[in-house]
Amino acid sequence: MPITKLKLANLPTPLWRNDALDEYIGTQVWVKRDDMSAGAEAGNKIRKLEYLLADALQKKATLLITCGGFQSNHARATAILGRGLGMRSLLFLRTTQRPPPTTDRGNAFLDSLVGAEIRTITPQEYTNRTTLMSETAANMERTGERVYVIPEGGSNGLGSLGYIDAMKEIREQLDSGEGGGPARFDAVVHACGSGGTAAGVSLGSSRWEVADSTCAIAVCDDKVYFRQTVERIIAQARNLDDSLYGPNKLEIFDKWKGPAYGVSNREQLHFILDVARLSGLILDPVYTGKALYGLAKMSKKPKRVLFIHTGGLPGLLSQTDEFGALM
Ligand SMILES: *Cc1c(COP(=O)(O)O)cnc(C)c1O
Repeated sequence: MPITKLKLANLPTPLWRNDALDEYIGTQVWVKRDDMSAGAEAGNKIRKLEYLLADALQKKATLLITCGGFQSNHARATAILGRGLGMRSLLFLRTTQRPPPTTDRGNAFLDSLVGAEIRTITPQEYTNRTTLMSETAANMERTGERVYVIPEGGSNGLGSLGYIDAMKEIREQLDSGEGGGPARFDAVVHACGSGGTAAGVSLGSSRWEVADSTCAIAVCDDKVYFRQTVERIIAQARNLDDSLYGPNKLEIFDKWKGPAYGVSNREQLHFILDVARLSGLILDPVYTGKALYGLAKMSKKPKRVLFIHTGGLPGLLSQTDEFGALM
């Protein structure tokens, strides 16, 4: 089947800059506002889902199965967009809490609002997520469902094509005089959680001459894990599109993850608060807050930076208690 793509996001998203933010971070930061890519389904996952859900529709899926953390932005975007396209969702969401947290906040609330089925699993079970999802899919197919399984974060070769297209979109913006003009950025900086964005950004920014290097700031796992994961996704993407050049220089940083995935230290929370109060830019504590914090902490900062705001607002709204002591 030929590769097809749905139009789900509002594109192009703006390239945004703020003097007070530049001063606070200590370099020139152009923010690609992918947090504005849509309504409640906004964020980076929608670009991947334009490809993945097109594939699901071609295969006449009735049910989507995917996975993530309990407050997964990817699961939320899948559930909302799938619903609009007439597909139901089954979400395997990871949590250590027993009994599992209630679904009255943030992403989990939106999942429930559109009627997605949530099954919570332990971190131990999550390590077998691929098998768990494919076995569940096989069982459901026996009952007459047509199931489409989307990997964690929508991160495979097909999903990553969404970020190659995003780099083309930025090239067009630069050529039309936005973002400070046609010259390449010194680096693209973004949060890395499952690797698909990093794969698409590094392939797309060399293909479309957007930046010399990609700085992927890990929010979980480590450099070794992401090096392997991103390389695997890059290989899959190049298999789908043989016109792609190699990736640009990809650097993975794993020193700004904070205490754990989804957990911030006080300095990281303070950073989010400062950025909001200085510039009005709202970051989330799980991804974008840690990534921009990483840029601010770099010893040698790239001079003209493209920071991808990948979304995550519902995650912020599920952690309002964390900010209590700071405000
Ligand atoms: C998923 C996500 C990321 C990470 O993207 P990956 O492609 O999974 O690495 C970054 N920011 C936000 C807000 C996300 O939801």
